[in-house]
Amino acid sequence: MKVSYSFLDEQFKDPEPILQDIKALVKSGDFTLGNALEEFEQKFAKFAHRKYAIGVGTGTDAIRLSLLALGIGQRDEVITTPNTFYATVGAIATTGAKPVFVDIRDDFAIDPSKIEAAITPKTKAIVPVHLNGCPADMVKIMEIAKKHNLKVVEDTCQAIGATVEGKRTGSYGDTGAYSLHPLKNINVWGDGGMIVTDSEEIRDKLILLRNHGLINRDECVMYAYNCRLDTMQAVVGLYVIKQVEWIIGERAKNGEYYDKELANIPQIRTPKRDQRYTYVHHNYVVFAEKRDELLKHLLEKGVDAKIHYPIPLHKQKASEYLGYKEGDFPVTERHCKEIISLPAHQHLTQEQKEYVISSIKEFYDGS
Ligand SMILES: *Cc1c(COP(=O)(O)O)cnc(C)c1O
Repeated sequence: MKVSYSFLDEQFKDPEPILQDIKALVKSGDFTLGNALEEFEQKFAKFAHRKYAIGVGTGTDAIRLSLLALGIGQRDEVITTPNTFYATVGAIATTGAKPVFVDIRDDFAIDPSKIEAAITPKTKAIVPVHLNGCPADMVKIMEIAKKHNLKVVEDTCQAIGATVEGKRTGSYGDTGAYSLHPLKNINVWGDGGMIVTDSEEIRDKLILLRNHGLINRDECVMYAYNCRLDTMQAVVGLYVIKQVEWIIGERAKNGEYYDKELANIPQIRTPKRDQRYTYVHHNYVVFAEKRDELLKHLLEKGVDAKIHYPIPLHKQKASEYLGYKEGDFPVTERHCKEIISLPAHQHLTQEQKEYVISSIKEFYDGS
């Protein structure tokens, strides 16, 4: 049996309805900004439990423009975690601000009890990452941010649809940053991103930042970027957002199934789940004994397991200038050796999930 990590061929098996809508767009010539984007932004804001949504070019732009709109740049420090996707740190660094890492807990998110020790007079913001579709502790993070007068930009690119105490991840901070990359839970046919916020002031700044600083066709009030969400991608987004509740529901169910079945395998440890959260398992990640051998075994069995991520950010060449060393973030470093991601996407069949579990059992029984 083959259990693939990717699901795109299944998801877009019948592209016809989307192509019909794109045809209509082509006829209208409405290629930048325009009606489809506005409609998508309105639907997205509602989904995200926020007042406003602003479509941008990528998830990376969503983080970077959020920071810029909050006035963050040169000489500032921004706190985040070293176990994220490169883009979180790239977005911080390319504003001119210095990324400052704080270690994580076994739930993959920033450890709130370690944040205050990393705050300096230069600290301006925290970028918590809801990695793997598992929420960070937004209640505690917002308390710390308030106490120290810090901005918060939530990187919820991997947690589209997850909740903390009934509210979506991305709805706690000054802004929430979403990616619409093909592998995310609301995905378009290429790159895309979305920023959500409740602040009219931040929304207005973002609208300038993404579109040349123009207040109308002929007047520019600030030099800025061109990073709008493509209208054609908004058409795809409008289609996918209709399925998102089903997508996150299926991923959550797959996670629950694996949690239950893996509890019977002593060599696998599942992260502790928090009753206040809902999970969407962008990556379904557990801790495994003999991880490298298990990975090899699963790949041989046709189960497309992966590691997210094998090299933490503080050990990447790009981070050399930050001066971190091995041992600075022990939980992150331990995770790199123990974590394994199992296919958990919305198109998995029951047989495929059972096969994943039996393949893991077979490995430990035989070793
Ligand atoms: C995907 C992702 C991003 C960036 O999104 P792009 O749309 O690819 O730019 C940022 N942070 C995390 C955690 C991501 O998974």
